[in-house]
Amino acid sequence: MGEFDLISKYFVRVSPVAASVVQGPGDDCALLSPKPGMQLAISTDLLIEGRHFLSTVSPESLGHKSLAVNLSDLAACGARPVAFTLALSLPQIDEAWLEGFSRGLFALADEHDCALIGGDTTRGPLSICITVFGEVPADAALLRSGAKVGDDIYVSGTLGDARLALEIFRGTVRNAPAEVFQLARDRLERPTPRVALGQALRGIATSAIDVSDGLCGDLGHILQRSGVGAVIDTALALDLLASQSAWTRTLSGGQDATPALDWVLSGGDDYELAFTAPPTARAALMAAAQAVHTRVTRIGFIRAEPGLQLQDGEGQPVARRTASFDHFG
Ligand code: ADP
Ligand code: MG
Repeated sequence: MGEFDLISKYFVRVSPVAASVVQGPGDDCALLSPKPGMQLAISTDLLIEGRHFLSTVSPESLGHKSLAVNLSDLAACGARPVAFTLALSLPQIDEAWLEGFSRGLFALADEHDCALIGGDTTRGPLSICITVFGEVPADAALLRSGAKVGDDIYVSGTLGDARLALEIFRGTVRNAPAEVFQLARDRLERPTPRVALGQALRGIATSAIDVSDGLCGDLGHILQRSGVGAVIDTALALDLLASQSAWTRTLSGGQDATPALDWVLSGGDDYELAFTAPPTARAALMAAAQAVHTRVTRIGFIRAEPGLQLQDGEGQPVARRTASFDHFG
């Protein structure tokens, strides 16, 4: 099988695509025609084996995750997914791998009506680079720079479970029950991009970011771009660990509370949304989140004093031990 057979067998599909896609794969360029009054939101993510994913991950999960991390960026801007390109570097043609990868990829793409409109395929170390294109009404995109003093801080879904899975894989956490591991692994390998929530937050949230490198670090980007500081209640944050069970509760309530809190605050790979909104918007926000069936939790507030302060349930300062992920840190 050659390059072009591979592309047409696994990545080119004859299916109806969104009206904005004028020309899909097969020509020198794809053509997009955004609807009048809309802006294109564009984001790229590169995934390298051994750095962004373990070689043990199933090809289907990898296909899902490769697109999910990109859709998560569109969600953070409040954009609706339209299309994506796929640049793939493969060590060899492995049809079982390609079949699984494309199945996972297209299952998520179809869920979001996001069409594969082109790409590039070469031989090399396994790496996957996806660029997504989304649409957002002009000047309605959610940005990192809009947080205001007094705003509430929220997080969608749950945090920390992807990191827990990684620690179990690494062998640093050994006593996790099977069902906790399964839940955590699912969160690591098959994250849910909060696409509907992102769009529902337009006009309500003042700023947003997706949590990929850890809550504290990513929230730090909002603080920096908005020129503000924040306080986070660690008691509320701990409730965000989804794999909560007798086991994690013991871990977080017992003498060693730090690992679970670190996973929540700095774990990374969560692909949830962190965002801010004024207290006057609380009811509208909760209604919007409920309408898209997504849990959101208020975990703190924005203040003028720069920096990120952690406090426990009684308002006492909590020291922060871990930094967020930085490839060159
Ligand atoms: P070029 O010569 O411009 O690099 P290619 O010969 O690499 O084009 O690709 C031929 C067509 O197949 C192009 O339209 C390209 O967008 C598409 N294509 C290549 N790889 C992929 C892929 N992995 N997924 C989807 N489309 C692809
Ligand atoms: Mg090419």
